[in-house]
Amino acid sequence: MNNPVLRAEHMKKIYNAGKENAFEALHDINFSVYEGEFIGIMGPSGSGKSTFINNISTIDIPTEGSVYIHDKEVRSMSEDEIGVFRYENLGFIFQYFNLLDTHTLYENIAMPLSLAGRTDAQIHDRIQEIAGKMNIAGLLVKYPYECSGGQRQRGAICRALINDPKLIIADEPTGNLDSRNSTELMKILQDLNQKEGVTIVMVTHDPLIASYSTRFIYIHDGNIETEIKRGGMTQEEYFRRIVDVNADESREVLAG
Ligand code: ADP
Ligand code: MG
Repeated sequence: MNNPVLRAEHMKKIYNAGKENAFEALHDINFSVYEGEFIGIMGPSGSGKSTFINNISTIDIPTEGSVYIHDKEVRSMSEDEIGVFRYENLGFIFQYFNLLDTHTLYENIAMPLSLAGRTDAQIHDRIQEIAGKMNIAGLLVKYPYECSGGQRQRGAICRALINDPKLIIADEPTGNLDSRNSTELMKILQDLNQKEGVTIVMVTHDPLIASYSTRFIYIHDGNIETEIKRGGMTQEEYFRRIVDVNADESREVLAG
């Protein structure tokens, strides 16, 4: 297989390390994300899913262990280097969209390009292109609070994709969407993964959403408990396996 895009070795995260309220949210994670993968992550609330994706993708820094981006250790990189990596490679999609209500959709989407010093004309052309693809070209003058949840999430996706990221980090991206908008978003992500080779790491609460991935991991109490590769399975077979893992884990909790 090709080299990993992201790799965590003995990654540990302790919140409030050294203090009385120290909490070890990730124990000893060894995990690689390979180019072209679509990773789906599930696990109970508070199990460490957000901590995992934040620490493996430079949003946060692990307390112990190492994270490598294309075989380069993040700790050995300068703030500027990490910033360039984020700008050139990463797109983030969150549950609450994280759009600024004081800015129109256009201004929100433009933000990463403005920060990168592109001209107004370049920004305009790129936004028209991506907003057309996401079907929100007519909404660009609106403020986020004037848009529906599905429209806001499409705006947030435009912002995440505006730099043509090679890697998308999505934390419960369908958490505030109805099922129709959730399915639509999954088709967008699946297309990006299959047709444009974008690597995706996504957390979700929903086994059906997870079944769009190519590899599934289940996190429990700060550990990766289970891993399933979709391989030759149909989406339905894969979905059933994911449901079974969730059911088994829940049964263990019930059995104490
Ligand atoms: P998940 O995304 O699976 O719901 P998180 O990764 O957000 O879980 O959190 C894992 C654990 O770490 C939880 O017990 C949570 O309370 C704790 N935690 C998360 N963020 C912080 C923080 N900034 N400070 C202290 N504890 C935190
Ligand atoms: Mg979370």
